[in-house]
This record gives sequence, structure tokens and C-alpha cells, in this order.
Amino acid sequence: MQVLWINLKEPGSARARLERMPSVSSVPIVAAPELPPAIDAVTVNAVLIAVRQAANVLCDRWSLLTLLLAQAGVHRFNEFSERGGMASRLLTSRLTMLEEQEIIVRLAYSRRPLRHEYHLSHMGLALFDVFATMARWEHTWHPSADAAGLRIEHLACGATAARPLPHCAACNALLLARDIKLTVSQREIEAMPTKATSYRRSTLSTTKRGLGAPVPLAHAIDVFGDKWGIELVMCLFTRVRNFNGFEAHLGISTNILADRLARLTALGILRPTTDADRFGKGAYALTDKGIDLHPILLAIQAWADTWLRERYRSPVTFVHRPCGQPLQLQVSCEACGQALSRANSRLVID
Ligand SMILES: [Zn+2]
Ligand SMILES: [Zn+2]
Repeated sequence: MQVLWINLKEPGSARARLERMPSVSSVPIVAAPELPPAIDAVTVNAVLIAVRQAANVLCDRWSLLTLLLAQAGVHRFNEFSERGGMASRLLTSRLTMLEEQEIIVRLAYSRRPLRHEYHLSHMGLALFDVFATMARWEHTWHPSADAAGLRIEHLACGATAARPLPHCAACNALLLARDIKLTVSQREIEAMPTKATSYRRSTLSTTKRGLGAPVPLAHAIDVFGDKWGIELVMCLFTRVRNFNGFEAHLGISTNILADRLARLTALGILRPTTDADRFGKGAYALTDKGIDLHPILLAIQAWADTWLRERYRSPVTFVHRPCGQPLQLQVSCEACGQALSRANSRLVID
């Protein structure tokens, strides 16, 4: 078993800084990271294969937007189209795909004429944590976009705009990137195919949203609505940092890679570092904002491991270092400290 660490150079001083802060949750809860030790190419490949399983299903801009709207109670075709600014053909293709994946189910609500509603299956409802962690990240790093965003009503405590915080379900501590340890199972790696396959390559849509409605979680969807986005972020978490490394691990063409690196840099997720490699193509590091994506990655991995059972299971297990337990993400309400879940909360798009 190989152990990787995501931690900080000076946990003591960082912790002290956090403790001095009046409200920990009102500021980004991250500090400069120390990259985990380099891992071998086979392990990186296995990690990326696992990520790609989830990315194939979720990481498409219009699929995410459709699922988000469905979480917020949208069921009918026209409402998806209007609120998401999606053309009919685009929406039809995404609804069909999500139905094939059994994330959405189609139910007839009228026989004459025949009309359908689209509802989330249990698998779709279970994406609540993914959107809740995205909402936390969006509100942390793009607070001015709140008006265009969504809010979470916590029915348990009556908060109308609950702030979701990532906690460890075992010890209830606030989750910090530095406290997460990754363990890699050799057995799971051996079960992996040698090559990461992709059955649907996303292309970044440049389609203008026709109706001018602001998209909720716009920035999170900018990152995760493109499968190269999540794969590049995961590369950096596994310490693959330079252009040639990305190219080799992802099988991505040079021009698309350059484009995505520029986009993620513009989004403030990555920053070029000075230690350009000998090929003259640069190395990159995650910014604090990029590192703070980790609860979303945890939520996506937890969802994929639970619901995409027929696929290859991630060879990576996260462990919460302070309590030593396998990491189970619990999204809690900042106001009352209780769990925010699909059962006791409502996603509302104003
Ligand atoms: Zn814990
Ligand atoms: Zn609450």
C-alpha cells in the first residue's frame, strides 16, 4: 500500500493563523500546499482511469446544468430549456444520455397529448453533495456571483441560505486539504485496464446561452463541465505538474492541452510556476482556489464509487489523518452544525 499526503509545509503556523481568524468559514480554508510525493506512472494512470469513469458521466457543462436544475425541482422540458438557456436539441441529447445512465427517469404526466416529466433517480438525487460542495466553493471564491447562484434551505434549522461546510463524518472535524491522506490499493490498480478509455469526449461549448439567464454555479461548472478540467486538477493533486506529463497521462492533444491550461489559469485554478521543464513547456501548481476544489472531488468520487459499481472502482481511498478513519464526506450546515442532506434540505434557484 502506497501512501500519499496532501498536507501543508507548516501545519502549525497555518493552524494558528486559522485559529486567529474571527470566522474560519468566512475565508477560504486553505493554505499553501506541499505537494504529495511523486507517485509512479502506473498509479497515476489508475487514479486517472477512476476519475474518468465519473467524468464520462458527469463532467459535461450541459449535463451538470441539467442535473442542477433537476435538483432544484425543475421537471419539465420547457423549464429546463428556459432556465438553463439550452436549445432543444442540446437539451434532448443530454436528457437522453442521463436517462440512459439511469440518473434521470422519464415519467408521463399527460396521456393526451403524451407529455413527460424528468425526475432524478436515487442515483441522481445522490448528487446533492456534489452540488452542495460546488455551492460552497462558488460562494467562497465568487461571492459576488451569489445573486446568480443557488441557495440551500436547511429545513432542519430554518436557514434560508445555509452555508455548506465539508466535515469528516467520523470525527466531525472541518475537512482541510492538508488533513487528507490518500492510500492507493495495489489490488485495485491491478484490476484496472492499462489504458484510460473515454467514450465521450466533451468539447467546450462556446454556445451563448440564448436567454441571458445567469447560470448558477457558473464557475464551478466552468471547471467541472469539461472532463479535461477535472482530469487536469486530479493530475496536479497526484503531482503530475508539467506539460509533457499531462500530455503523456491524459492522451490529450497539444493544442487542447494548451487551451485548457490557459483556461484553468484564467479561472485562477492553476498558476504557472517558474520551474519550466527542459522541453520549455511549463510546470503548473494548483492555487489555493484550486486546492479548495478537493471537497468537490471527494463528493464526485464518493458518488461514483457508490453508484457506478459496474465500472472500475477508484484505487484511491482517502483517509482523514486526524482521526485515521476512511474519509466519508459529510456536508454540514454552518448555522446549526447538522448534516445538510437531500432529505432535510432544498436546493433553490432564485
Ligand atoms: Zn475524521
Ligand atoms: Zn442548519
